[in-house]
Amino acid sequence: MIRVLHVEAIPITFRLAEGYRIAGHTYASADNIIVKIDTSDGRTGFGCAAPAAEVTGETPAASLLALQDRLVPLLRTSDAADTAGFARRARETAPKAPAARAAAEMALHDLAGRRARVPLVRLLGMRRDRLPTSVTLGIDEPAASLERAARHRAAGFRILKVKIGEDWEKDLKTVRALRQALGPGILLRADGNQGYTEGQARCFLAALRPGEIELLEQPTPRDDLEALRRLADDFELPIMADESVQDAADASRLVDARAADLVNIKLMKSGGIGEAMEIAARTHRAGVGAMIGCMDESRIGIAAALHFALAAPNVERADLDGHLDLLDDVARGGVRIVNGDILPFHDSDGLGVRVRL
Ligand SMILES: [Mg+2]
Repeated sequence: MIRVLHVEAIPITFRLAEGYRIAGHTYASADNIIVKIDTSDGRTGFGCAAPAAEVTGETPAASLLALQDRLVPLLRTSDAADTAGFARRARETAPKAPAARAAAEMALHDLAGRRARVPLVRLLGMRRDRLPTSVTLGIDEPAASLERAARHRAAGFRILKVKIGEDWEKDLKTVRALRQALGPGILLRADGNQGYTEGQARCFLAALRPGEIELLEQPTPRDDLEALRRLADDFELPIMADESVQDAADASRLVDARAADLVNIKLMKSGGIGEAMEIAARTHRAGVGAMIGCMDESRIGIAAALHFALAAPNVERADLDGHLDLLDDVARGGVRIVNGDILPFHDSDGLGVRVRL
């Protein structure tokens, strides 16, 4: 048994270089909680929670409380090598705090990789060594979006994700302006963040021309799977569920309802890598593809998401840009982006992050 000697849960508010707007929310900073675990074999592992009430259902305060009152005590009595057992008990004791659970489980995965002296993805079973990632454009005036898009293209990104969902006609103009300015070498995906009614989503989808965007993420409210299903049935463009799928039970409901072509998996929604792998397995069996997504989070969380994605059966898309905008991340390493592809450090152990707190 590997004993947990010491656990810390440290709340940190990161400043964002550029705040941004999505349908229904504006972000100027990112509340994360860093989890640090020291074990009896002399190793230290790190995890990161990025709670957001509108996505993970937990406020940063609730997430910190779940860690302090429930998950840290549970860690102290757990075998650090029994990651799956911990995740199961964590779910029972903190069912409504998936980001907090993800952080604790992530630190145990980091430790497992460090003990084995391999990158975490090697323990999970590596299926690919990198993924092209998108970088996100918030809702903005077209000129500002074009300027940012040009900057991202110059930095090597080949996929841009544009936030929409407030006004379908304006959204269409923005997408079209981006499409024209960027040329055919750049893929565009769009995310409605539940902002449209089904009728508005239909207007937007009907007006799109073939090839303008790659997919449309969560155009309509999360609980209305029937609306998503009708859109997926009636339009050629792939529809991706994000907010509608938090955990594996949601994934089963989604595939049973045949409500989407694709799903966006995030560790902060699922409560960790184990549950994310279960979402991937269930959607894969149903022929539903997946993307790995993220919140505004430290490189610790982005690295964990990437190691999971590189091992998952059906994760062929990535939207892992949440660390890029943090001005004062406490972690270095973990991931790097080369010509628009995100890859882990294949010669580093665990998550491959170096953390200074
Ligand atoms: Mg989304």
